Amino acid sequence: MSQALVIHAPHDLRIETRDVPPLTSGEVRVRVEAGGICGSDLHYYHHGGFGAVRLKHPMVLGHEIAGRIIEKAPDVSSLEIGDTVAVNPGLACGQCLQCRAGRVNHCSDMRFYGSAMRNPHVDGAFQQELVCKARQCVAGRQKRPAALALAEPFAVALHAVSRAGALMGKTLLVTGAGPIGTLVAIAARLNGAKEVIVTDILAEPLAVALRAGADRVINSREDPEALASLERSVDVLIECSGNEQALRGALDLMSPCG
Ligand SMILES: [Zn+2]
Ligand SMILES: [Zn+2]
Repeated sequence: MSQALVIHAPHDLRIETRDVPPLTSGEVRVRVEAGGICGSDLHYYHHGGFGAVRLKHPMVLGHEIAGRIIEKAPDVSSLEIGDTVAVNPGLACGQCLQCRAGRVNHCSDMRFYGSAMRNPHVDGAFQQELVCKARQCVAGRQKRPAALALAEPFAVALHAVSRAGALMGKTLLVTGAGPIGTLVAIAARLNGAKEVIVTDILAEPLAVALRAGADRVINSREDPEALASLERSVDVLIECSGNEQALRGALDLMSPCG
């Protein structure tokens, strides 16, 4: 038996006991040790979904998780019992046109943890024990589950930064200091950006972004002049707030060809 965090409706989140399924070929059992709360988890909790995606029946939440391998099917050789792993929440079909073109993240038959995109929904990973495919698990040098649980959102940040091209010598502006914005700041720092500036309208996340490696943070609500002084100096903008005003305002700050 394993406990799971199940969303029934907006503001109706329950801890329920579930049967633990036996392993089949290629599968492992992970004892979940850390999980990050994604914006989508919050949307299910507050609004029962987002856009056209609506909760139609109870679903286990969560997809940013890490844990320890406690059991493996006899045919699994890539992992050992006791390995600390990050779990890829997306299981692509491997057969559709997108998958065969190497764009597994665009799989047209994706099964993604804690997602009401399909009906029946795909249960998420906020469970004490999770049965998943060995190929979803990545055992890294990093052993701290809380850090490994950031692998999925950090992949988002690395992808965003790689789309921006070479950052050496460039000034990069990140609008939004939530987890994604802060991870983008870290990724940009690792990729050699000359200056990483992060904006938000809240002091607390800005302080975290500064500790995480941003060179400069600006509270765009309290200090609009500081923001305006960046006019035509930003080479790369990565919008991480989801706020229309942040995007519109930042476009004025872009350097030619930014
Ligand atoms: Zn997420
Ligand atoms: Zn596919």
